[in-house]
Amino acid sequence: MPLPEINTDGLKSFIPTEKIEFLLKNTANPDKKLVRKIIAKSLSKQRLEPEEMAVLINTADPKLVEEIKQGARDLKTNVYGNRIVLFAPLYIGNECVNDCTYCGFRKSNTETLRKTLTMDELGAEIEALEDRGHKRLILVYGEHPMYDAQFIHDTVKKAYSVHKGQGEIRRVNINAAPLDEEGFKLVKSAGIGTYQVFMETYHEPTYKTVHPSGLKSDYLWRLHGLDRAFRAGIDDIGIGALLGLHDWKFEVMGLLYHTIHFEETFGVGPHTISFPRIEPAQGSELTENIPYKVSDEDFTKLVAILRLTVPYTGLILTCRESVKIRNEVIAFGVSQIDAGSDIGVGAYATLDPESAKKSQFVLADGRSLDQVIGELAYAGYLPSFCTACYRVGRTGEHFMEFAIPGFVKRYCTPNAILTLLEYLNDYATPDTREKGLKQIKSELKAMAEGEAKNLLTEKIDAVNNGKRDLYY
Ligand code: SAM
Ligand code: SF4
Repeated sequence: MPLPEINTDGLKSFIPTEKIEFLLKNTANPDKKLVRKIIAKSLSKQRLEPEEMAVLINTADPKLVEEIKQGARDLKTNVYGNRIVLFAPLYIGNECVNDCTYCGFRKSNTETLRKTLTMDELGAEIEALEDRGHKRLILVYGEHPMYDAQFIHDTVKKAYSVHKGQGEIRRVNINAAPLDEEGFKLVKSAGIGTYQVFMETYHEPTYKTVHPSGLKSDYLWRLHGLDRAFRAGIDDIGIGALLGLHDWKFEVMGLLYHTIHFEETFGVGPHTISFPRIEPAQGSELTENIPYKVSDEDFTKLVAILRLTVPYTGLILTCRESVKIRNEVIAFGVSQIDAGSDIGVGAYATLDPESAKKSQFVLADGRSLDQVIGELAYAGYLPSFCTACYRVGRTGEHFMEFAIPGFVKRYCTPNAILTLLEYLNDYATPDTREKGLKQIKSELKAMAEGEAKNLLTEKIDAVNNGKRDLYY
């Protein structure tokens, strides 16, 4: 199957560039009463309007910024609890027809070693990830005729088919170029979780500069990419912006307008939002001189603002960020993080000294999955590998956690405990096991006595006796 034919006839941008610029200009120095009112609106579980997001963005008084951050922490605690879902990225191939100036896979980068995993190599990668305890993956692909919908479908099927020891992959998400509707339908039939496409920048003139050629150079094809996914029946989609290409203030407003577009067109918002900052990429001048570099101060603030603005979505934070930053912003309501990630193609199975040369960019957090789980548990979080909603057909789990009273208590916390316990029994080092068990104990202690707790205790016993994949 060749790359999809691009047809953008009749498509229009739903990103109102001038309005965004107007709002950002006209909400400068907001009054503290207004800022507090907006935080309170979010805490009452309502999505904010663009005008309100702009006010939060323009809040500069450090005390008020701290109130925004505290609002995000409160929202997380009240709505989502202390669970953090863990996943790993798996790079399938770095062939690419595009020339994104910030990416190590870009066509004009002659330094990179091009590599696409064979099905056997993919099997070995999956086994290596299962050996470490992973259950949730995101498969990542360059954009190339080799990586057509059939190929993506087949690689997803392969990922689900590999079982090593107690290991299995229970959810496969995708980060790949947007397809046409037929392509999305085929990929959906493989049983994918979320399909992620990052817009990179919502600012069209910047978009055109950083995507000079290839399929990705068409702004409208990309902007409407996930609409095609929706129409093909994929309602679990992830949006994102690559921070540093244009002003972050504009980009987060773009993410909000994209969200509103989905709400208005399909009746549901995105499942997840990602907000990666640009990392160094091989031979990329842009990554050496990032045009709109986002400081740590702005980054932590913008994560809190995103949390408050779209309180019902999952927020994803990756190993591109340092441990210090990850620890700070996880508390603002990040729901998923990757751990033990390696983004070289073929990097998990082999100790291939060349695999770094096949990487797209450089990661800042190099801790193992085991280390991350131990540290999260020690800090009072509940690491989770839960995939229950997706597997019983409860799509849009973040929205349900958010909207249905008692959902987290009834489903998410018990499922997180059971999947963490599996990990602790099958893969953890003694130190992590101790920390994890302590956390499970304190979760149980906090649960009200009664039938639900008794049932969970029975399931815990079953896991300890070797049963796997028990969920609510
Ligand atoms: N090729 C597909 C695409 O471009 O949509 C999907 C995979 S691409 C490898 C995944 C994401 O990596 C991109 O959407 C981009 O946001 C991010 N990325 C690219 N270069 C990066 C860099 N230097 N630092 C951080 N993230 C980067
Ligand atoms: Fe290719 Fe995606 Fe990298 Fe662009 S970001 S060069 S499309 S892999």
